[in-house]
Amino acid sequence: MTFKFLRPGIFATLVLFGGVAHAGGFSLLLFDGRPVRWQHDNADASLHLTYAFLNGPTAVAGARNCQTMTGLDQLAENAAIPVGRLREDVAAAFRIWTKAANLQFREVRDPGAADILIGAQVTPRGIAFADVRVDTAAPGPDAIISGASICLNPLAPWTLEPDGASDTYSLPYVVAHEIGHTLGLDHPGRTGPLMAYAYQEHMIDLSDGDIAGITSIYGPATTRVAMHPDGTDVAVPGAQ
Ligand SMILES: [Zn+2]
Repeated sequence: MTFKFLRPGIFATLVLFGGVAHAGGFSLLLFDGRPVRWQHDNADASLHLTYAFLNGPTAVAGARNCQTMTGLDQLAENAAIPVGRLREDVAAAFRIWTKAANLQFREVRDPGAADILIGAQVTPRGIAFADVRVDTAAPGPDAIISGASICLNPLAPWTLEPDGASDTYSLPYVVAHEIGHTLGLDHPGRTGPLMAYAYQEHMIDLSDGDIAGITSIYGPATTRVAMHPDGTDVAVPGAQ
């Protein structure tokens, strides 16, 4: 198998570190004692991040969990999930975070141009993993994320809809959890929030703790700009 190498040398270091638990039901990923986060220069605007699905064998230099990845075609075939549906569900997993925090995600076709890579493990293990690469040269109290990867086991028994079975894994749930890692969240404990490390199929949404965690890093989702900010598009009959 020939691997395409993505941006070798750009990513200084890796990875999953120890987090510190907060009373609010979340835990931040730490690198050398510093919380990790994506750079957000303009707190008044949403942070825009891109993601891409890998389209062939890829080696990510310096990665610990997702060293070699490839596209999701084999995973989709094994799970009898149409690739298009799988992409839609990944997009939905990103929207779970967008609803809560001041973040926007956009899919791009070129993995070399994406902030977050999504693919299947070349050497299958576990269920799924995430890597967060940190720019160690960036000064400041926080460690700045320069790239992230999510790798899924192509042989795991994936499903789309939660079916209550303990021997299958809901892909939207697992991807939403791994996205949380790529944004700078660690496991606050075994059960409870989406970011808990035990697989809990009963919920595919953020808990109060997950929301407290992500908004502590990026701020809350901004109120959407009104179509007509002065309200002139609506008349209320009888209003004085
Ligand atoms: Zn995890």
